[in-house]
Amino acid sequence: MLDTILRRVQKPARYAGGEWNAVVKDWDRTPLKMAFCFPDVYEVGMSYPGLHIIYQLANGHEGVLCERVFAPWPDMEGELRKAGLPLFSLESGRSLAEFDLVAFTLQYELTFTNILNMLDLGKIPLLAAGRDSHSPLVIAGGPCAFNPEPLAPFFDAFVLGEGEEVLPEILAACLAVSGRAKRLARLGRIPGVYLPAAYAVSYREDGRIASVTPREGAPAVVTKRVLRDLDAHLPPLRPVVPSTGVVHDRATLEVFRGCTHGCRFCQAGMIYRPVRERSLPRLLEASGELLRATGQDEISLVSLSTTDYSNIRPLLRGILDEWGERGVNVSLPSLRVDAFAVDLAREARRVRGASLTFAPEAGTQRLRDVINKGVSEDDLLTAVAAAFAAGWHAVKLFFMDAAPTETEEDLAGIVELVRKVVEAGRRAQVPPGRLKVTASVSSFVPKAHTPFQWEPQDDRASLMAKQAYLRERLRFRHAAFSWHDPEASFLEAALARGDRRLAEVIRLAWAKGCRFDGWSEWFRPDLWEDAFRQTGLSATWYAHKRYDYGDVLPWDHLSSGVARSFLVMEHRRAMQGLTTADCRAGACAGCGLCPALAVQPVTLPQEG
Ligand code: SF4
Repeated sequence: MLDTILRRVQKPARYAGGEWNAVVKDWDRTPLKMAFCFPDVYEVGMSYPGLHIIYQLANGHEGVLCERVFAPWPDMEGELRKAGLPLFSLESGRSLAEFDLVAFTLQYELTFTNILNMLDLGKIPLLAAGRDSHSPLVIAGGPCAFNPEPLAPFFDAFVLGEGEEVLPEILAACLAVSGRAKRLARLGRIPGVYLPAAYAVSYREDGRIASVTPREGAPAVVTKRVLRDLDAHLPPLRPVVPSTGVVHDRATLEVFRGCTHGCRFCQAGMIYRPVRERSLPRLLEASGELLRATGQDEISLVSLSTTDYSNIRPLLRGILDEWGERGVNVSLPSLRVDAFAVDLAREARRVRGASLTFAPEAGTQRLRDVINKGVSEDDLLTAVAAAFAAGWHAVKLFFMDAAPTETEEDLAGIVELVRKVVEAGRRAQVPPGRLKVTASVSSFVPKAHTPFQWEPQDDRASLMAKQAYLRERLRFRHAAFSWHDPEASFLEAALARGDRRLAEVIRLAWAKGCRFDGWSEWFRPDLWEDAFRQTGLSATWYAHKRYDYGDVLPWDHLSSGVARSFLVMEHRRAMQGLTTADCRAGACAGCGLCPALAVQPVTLPQEG
């Protein structure tokens, strides 16, 4: 039956499994079965480094098997439903309901309807309260677990923090006892594990939260878990090699974790603190093992800001000395806005002509100071001049519009900056037929646990108007404009700031047919609007509400370790246009995380 189905769908390799380095354990002899679920399509999920970390970690445990499950593309969903077949894992073809532990990663709010779809197709009751003793435990981690409230009724537990630190304890707890209830009770005793059913939320008449009350035995605040010594944990050295083209088709090596630049809109910069680097010898050894085990001809050095790594140049040279002649390319996905980063990119690349990407984020220095983006116009123009001089012809610039305090002058600044970069290309005598400067613009989305968590998003009309303004003015020669759909950013903001009442909206949107909301070809804002209307809730209220410091936020009982007082101070400094320095290079900025979680930043001495 499955063979027949696979012949009818696009890209059957998405569901076939059997890839190089896939781990297939003996189902009958392994006591604990875990499904790692990625709520997007195979090509996206296989490009996510966290999948390979969890897969290696769980399968490295003798008593555990871990298999992958991805969201089926709508054609596959149709076929499964028509045939009455459940959603299944790639390794053994077992249905989701046969596993003991079903673990999702929550990377992006616009995958939430896919989660419901996967549970439904996997024959698991959507609501945790509706599951019986035979149902698996459904848990989730990842950045959206720092405000998982809109998903609260669908999950038994959420995990705050890093998998390497907490997953072994979860697996040990599940191996120690059997039965859903006993296991859940054990999970509730693990620091960093949040059981949403153990908290009662009440609301005020105006819609704001009145209180979040833990039931007996539950902690008042659940705090994230953090890995103190990243270097003691090997990165995944035998990742599964995709058997079809994926978004990032290369080996990936995580050089450090955390970023303390302190951009005030950036959730990752707050929830993954502090910076912890891996050592150079460890990374050089790992790169060799990774390339040998995968046969890939490209290795990507990943982190939130890779060119900040203390030993980036010796690392790059070390890999290229060993592997460059064998045709291996090194990629640096996130470039700092400076000439040093361009120089590194020049050393790393094999192929001329691809574009370089920088993220100035805002068009004026005033607004860059508000968002604490420590980049000046000079930095950018020096970096692009270096890029053009080194032979690049195309540059991509990431901007965020509608940031707090933005005015028309800031939007005009984006246009002006693009003009200046085009001018730099002309001065560097880039052939006119090849010079291209793309401004890629997305709208500000206020995120939980950031200094901008209290800020409203602009209303929808204003988001549209701002994008139209830029589209109209970025029409000059050599300039190009690309944008992220403001409708999608609006929904993202509503869900990112949402509370438990939104669960019913998500369920209704899914029931009406919403899937793959992050994909423009599938996104149906009209169905979401219907779902909001039907529940009497307003997406606008959630996205555009300005919170007061005294308000109870839906995620206040969950802690990233960064003190709320620091977020308030950063928010106030933003409104005054004051910047805060990166603690990586010097003084502690006092975010409170290190003393609260007994951790230290780890930056290593420069070598070579
Ligand atoms: S406590 Fe200080 S050193 Fe640690 S992450 Fe926060 S600002 Fe940096």
